[in-house]
Amino acid sequence: MATIDGLPPLRDVIRDHELVAKKQLGQNFLLDLNLTAKIARQAGDLTACDVLEVGPGPGGLTRGLLAEGARRVLAVEKDARCLPALAEVADAYPGRLEVINGDALEVDAPAMLNAPIRVVANLPYNVGTELLVRWLTPKQWPPFWESLTLMFQKEVAERIVAKPGSKAYGRLALLAQWRADAKIVLTLPPEAFTPPPKIHSAVVHLTRLDQPRFPADAAILSRITAMGFNQRRKMLRSSLKGLAPDIEDRLRAAGIAPTARAEEIPLEGFCALAREIAK
Ligand code: SAM
Repeated sequence: MATIDGLPPLRDVIRDHELVAKKQLGQNFLLDLNLTAKIARQAGDLTACDVLEVGPGPGGLTRGLLAEGARRVLAVEKDARCLPALAEVADAYPGRLEVINGDALEVDAPAMLNAPIRVVANLPYNVGTELLVRWLTPKQWPPFWESLTLMFQKEVAERIVAKPGSKAYGRLALLAQWRADAKIVLTLPPEAFTPPPKIHSAVVHLTRLDQPRFPADAAILSRITAMGFNQRRKMLRSSLKGLAPDIEDRLRAAGIAPTARAEEIPLEGFCALAREIAK
């Protein structure tokens, strides 16, 4: 069967390279190249961008990114078994794909890329949230990336885009929405993957803002949200009492009722409180 790039279908690649999926590496592969090209398109125009991909596996999304015109893809893969399959993709796109065999939590990928940079990945579930938090909390803002287009378990995706008052609302929503626009752009059923996971998945697209949506000190905001949501059923005057002896006054000065709970407070309120605490 003809593919979008003339390379063999992914089912054959997986068979020929004996890439039996390993659960401990979060290996649920996408085999439909039309779908991987569609995911690549969610990242916007890639023709003038370097792309960082984490966990290319047998190369389905990598091939989608290259077929959609990415200027260059740097793909970081922990499983050395995938390297021969990825080398075939690199041969088909001379000079446009570089593969690093390593752990994405340890490799300094931004140092190997040229701006503008977009991150696109079907993330391994076991490191996905940690990578996202790192990308959202660099020492300097703006970060190295222009956008992140990332596949997560649907439940995690919902936490990223959640609004106040919902069960999914918490630290991840605040971190993501403080300095980026975040939206779910695709939802995928388990059958889209081989082997199928137990849960649905979703692609989230985050576009960085040049400035945070509301002014606040990042470290203070992070501390407040951690304390507030660690005890999300408690009133803020009690969950935040370790922050300042006069926490009730500070909450009122920020326009927040001391009896409110973290899950009711919008981003703007947390930022106002961070400014009060910084005074
Ligand atoms: N991108 C491929 C696709 O869409 O079919 C594979 C996605 S699969 C969900 C996750 C991939 O991440 C696997 O290939 C796995 O080996 C790789 N991986 C797991 N942990 C990793 C890590 N810490 N650093 C880099 N790659 C990792």
